[in-house]
Amino acid sequence: MSKSTDTLIRIARIEGKYVVDEKGNANGRGCRICPNCVEKAIKTRALNKSFKANVPNEIYETLRAAMLARENNNVTLAKYAPKEYIGK
Ligand SMILES: [Zn+2]
Repeated sequence: MSKSTDTLIRIARIEGKYVVDEKGNANGRGCRICPNCVEKAIKTRALNKSFKANVPNEIYETLRAAMLARENNNVTLAKYAPKEYIGK
């Protein structure tokens, strides 16, 4: 599968809440990470830098879940990640 920009995973902060922005167009500050770089981003706490905030562990776990969902032919993220962390 090619790694085009639409395979990037977007994390958005919407009204103070971090979510995986599945459609990639939610309002609010966002940060895009390619699936190949997710583990590195978790290790280096890359989201903290992007959002200039202490991003909770749950969000890093959700980012990993989103990556797994992408790897598994885009089966719905809901299967992997808690619903409260998925953007509308
Ligand atoms: Zn990358």
